[in-house]
Amino acid sequence: MKNTSTPPTVGRFAPSPTGPLHFGSIVSAVASFLAAKQHCNGRWLVRIDDLDQPRTVKGACDSILRDLESLGLHHDGSLVFQSSRSDRYQRILDHLTKAGHTYPCGCSRKEILASAPHFGEEGPIYPGTCLVTPPTSSDKTAVRLRSKSQRISFIDLIQGGCEQNIGDDVGDFVLQRNDGIFAYQLATIIDDHDSGINLIVRGQDLLLSTPRQIYLLDLLSWSIPRYAHIPLVMAPDGQKISKRHQPQSPCTIYSPGQILVAVLTFLGLNPPADLGSAEANTVLSWGLEHFSFSKIMKHNHQFTL
Ligand code: GLU
Repeated sequence: MKNTSTPPTVGRFAPSPTGPLHFGSIVSAVASFLAAKQHCNGRWLVRIDDLDQPRTVKGACDSILRDLESLGLHHDGSLVFQSSRSDRYQRILDHLTKAGHTYPCGCSRKEILASAPHFGEEGPIYPGTCLVTPPTSSDKTAVRLRSKSQRISFIDLIQGGCEQNIGDDVGDFVLQRNDGIFAYQLATIIDDHDSGINLIVRGQDLLLSTPRQIYLLDLLSWSIPRYAHIPLVMAPDGQKISKRHQPQSPCTIYSPGQILVAVLTFLGLNPPADLGSAEANTVLSWGLEHFSFSKIMKHNHQFTL
């Protein structure tokens, strides 16, 4: 008999340890947790995106993990650290290179800005200089993906239909920087694939990265997860809330119940006000019962804890 059961949902939270959690990152953590755990046998994993070691702040990882625990967000499985996975990233990069999908690029940011024919949705589109004239110096080179003019479309569970043409709107993007650091786009799809992640819930600031990730997944013939990009929490100055606005984690100021109720409110769930005095687990159980992507507002909006 054919097994027709769908695989259990596996979600994840992937913070970069560049400082303590702020309210915006807690929203991503809680939403990804609820979306995964709402399903029967749903699993929620945590990965530390510490690839960019120069940006990693000492003590940030411990503080993030402590905060997640205090909010009752206990992860399944073992933690994954991107910094320990370079061999795996290199193997996949070599595979893409052998298949003719990459080329070395010796251009500096300044040179690209000076020669870029036009700007795409995420900066200048690389004009392919090093494809025509490969770098000759022994200087360190970056590795770029040759992108084709190909339309990538997907249905985001919050934002709805999204579409981007990789070749025209983004161009040949970097898979490994000239300092040897693997690009986020490459590392994240390898990690998500290897951990069996099939539901990615994260901030809307990564929406424009998603077509590049789908493009790479297609090249590798790996399955495409479902995506949900939650609106960003905006500070009163109109900027995305960041460590600049909240140098200290809200967990050092508010109780877990207060923080979780604020998150559920931001996610459009309308929790009763007195839930804020309950234990984290009680608030999360309420959240699990009421969470739905359809209740989440699409647009970034201001919110004060
Ligand atoms: N590490 C990224 C961040 O902290 C998130 C990556 C992802 O969710 O794909 O913004």
